[in-house]
Amino acid sequence: MKILVCISNVPDTTTKITFTDNNTQFNTSGVQFILNPYDEIALARAIELTEPNNGSVTVINVGEVGTEPTIRKALAIGATDAVRVNALPHDAWFVAYQIAQYIKANPFDLILTGRESIDYNGSKVAGMIAELLDIPSVSIIKKLDIDGNSAIVEREIEGGKEVLTIPLPFVAGTAEGVAEVKIPNMRGIMSARTKPLNVIEAITVKTLSDVISYETPAPRGQVKLVPADDVPQLVSLLHEEARVI
Ligand SMILES: Cc1cc2nc3c(=O)[nH]c(=O)nc-3n(C[C@H](O)[C@H](O)[C@H](O)COP(=O)(O)OP(=O)(O)OC[C@H]3O[C@@H](n4cnc5c(N)ncnc54)[C@H](O)[C@@H]3O)c2cc1C
Repeated sequence: MKILVCISNVPDTTTKITFTDNNTQFNTSGVQFILNPYDEIALARAIELTEPNNGSVTVINVGEVGTEPTIRKALAIGATDAVRVNALPHDAWFVAYQIAQYIKANPFDLILTGRESIDYNGSKVAGMIAELLDIPSVSIIKKLDIDGNSAIVEREIEGGKEVLTIPLPFVAGTAEGVAEVKIPNMRGIMSARTKPLNVIEAITVKTLSDVISYETPAPRGQVKLVPADDVPQLVSLLHEEARVI
């Protein structure tokens, strides 16, 4: 079984977000980038599914050379090889188009993404890849098992769960529960240095979206602490100051 895992290089969650160029560009200066946490889950499940049958896990990233430490981390965790499409990822359409073109030339049994990237939170790439390849896609999966030429997946829905069977190949966006993330060991870290990382050039794509501006949330107001037994004061503050009751 050959699985492709799409990996996104995202700012660490503790990053202080600022913008440049009249609030149209994310300021990457001094930012620590990490492997998108949902993609770590996808990668862990892909490794579990391929280990017993000597399959392979390829990771793909659309990004400039600065994403290579993140790609090497995925190799250290256990991916077989990696591909980097050498380009600044302009938007989800650009990313999905590059990945779909790669898959057309190099078919896989299964394509996994994270449920969303934790930077732009679009949840768009998986569905777009599937549409470009004319194959099924399923979002926010919590469980994934392979059964012959199809897969059984579980999704959480309001008040319960949905169990689906889907023919391979398809694209799935993974969420918590699909697998426990794997911590790279020393052997993995050493072998990651020599595993293949193929760099390919991006295909020119018509730009479909442009950012007008980004805005950070308004700073939080000061917190007022009310003694637990002073309900009248709490009610008064909610009524007079917060004006929510
Ligand atoms: C320097 C820099 C500048 C950027 N500028 C912009 C910008 O101006 N506008 C904008 O919309 N985005 C920008 N991005 C983000 C980048 O284009 C996103 O990867 C893309 O927009 C998809 O985001 P999303 O939230 O829709 O992804 P989602 O659809 O939420 O991602 C779901 C999954 O798709 C996969 N995926 C996402 N991105 C990639 C990737 N690059 N390579 C491989 N797999 C991926 C991952 O598996 C991820 O879990 C920038 C990123 C960087 C590093």
